[in-house]
Amino acid sequence: MQIDSSIRLFDCAKKLMPGGVSSPVRAISPCPFYTARAEGPYLWDADANRYIDYCLAYGPMILGHCHPAIVRAAADQMTRGWLYGTPSLLEVAAARRISRLYPSMEMLRFVSSGTEATMAAIRVARGATGRDKIIKIEGGFHGAHDSVLVKAGSGATTLSIPDSKGVPADTAKNTLQVPYNDLAALESVLLRHPGQIACLIIEPVLGNIGPILPEKGYLEGVRRLTKEHDVLLIFDEVITGFRLSLGGAQELFGIKPDLTTLGKIIGGGFPVGIFGGRRDLMEQVAPGGGIYQAGTFNGSPVSLACGMATLDVLEKEKVLEKLNITGKQMREGLKEIVDDLRLPYSVVGIASMFKIFFGEEPHNYTQALKCDKNGYLTFFRRMLSAGIFLTPSQYETDFISASHSSQVIETTLEATRSCLKS
Ligand SMILES: *Cc1c(COP(=O)(O)O)cnc(C)c1O
Repeated sequence: MQIDSSIRLFDCAKKLMPGGVSSPVRAISPCPFYTARAEGPYLWDADANRYIDYCLAYGPMILGHCHPAIVRAAADQMTRGWLYGTPSLLEVAAARRISRLYPSMEMLRFVSSGTEATMAAIRVARGATGRDKIIKIEGGFHGAHDSVLVKAGSGATTLSIPDSKGVPADTAKNTLQVPYNDLAALESVLLRHPGQIACLIIEPVLGNIGPILPEKGYLEGVRRLTKEHDVLLIFDEVITGFRLSLGGAQELFGIKPDLTTLGKIIGGGFPVGIFGGRRDLMEQVAPGGGIYQAGTFNGSPVSLACGMATLDVLEKEKVLEKLNITGKQMREGLKEIVDDLRLPYSVVGIASMFKIFFGEEPHNYTQALKCDKNGYLTFFRRMLSAGIFLTPSQYETDFISASHSSQVIETTLEATRSCLKS
């Protein structure tokens, strides 16, 4: 595969941007490909190579690229203007619709990214309880702000910098960590800090260390323990929302968190974040109350229009049901290959999320770190040369979109077999 243009662009970019990229995980070694265009399940790079995309912008592109309904929604909105700085008709309809799908979100606010959503949700928890400490899950990723960049997953783990420099020690000391799938560890932290912990923030299914599934009863236990110890529960559903089901993991598993954060899919591929939850908590957000949050691009009309258009397609075409079937086809196909080749690897996932772990199926961060991440990278590079773009790390989830036909999945499985064999 010839990638001369990408090499030239990367050489130039490295002098202008840290690592040559706008977000760390994109710095694929030795050279990322530069995308010129995207459509359906495909990306084309600057040298006209075509890739089947399972990264899908790390989650948002659930309908695939350039879906006509989203192109139309964006274009229609543009003719009415794209930023008002006032309340808009769109946001009331969108808020009502989201609150109906997520009944735990009695009130909500639109922001511009998942990072802003988790930052605000944690501030609400701290402001409402008057406590500073929070608990997060080891390897959980909630964006790139100070309180949550401690043992963080995603690019932070990939690049071995889960504890970022520049986070004040005074901030980091307020972020307590517990392993996923371990109720005893959670209970012991809760017992050790009575009256000091504002909230627990958790991805109900870990998505940013590869997909790691909750063991039976774990999420119920998390809800019970946080309630018993009077600690607020934040579900970070930036990945799981609108993917595991329209009402997210909270609908699928039947758990009611106090606060929820959403993002990715619900912007239709445009920047978005949402935080919301119990009325008594959200009423304390400014201007109603003293917990401050604001943003020039909050409730961006194009993001909302495209998010709602995405929701229309997801509902009308029963996309998630179809994606669950495609996801199963992919995972079963991969398992068969791994078994046939007698490799000590595991295939993990749920709904339209999947991953080959180069090791045993992990149930928490520590176990995930035991996987052969360099082996995975070799596999990743071979797949890329075969025209298949998986996420460029053992510690990111692969996604399937509505545009991935079963023929595309079969092509991918064939390439996987030959790459794993070699
Ligand atoms: C991606 C992600 C975020 C951050 O969202 P951005 O829009 O990238 O700021 C937060 N939480 C989870 C679970 C995510 O996957």
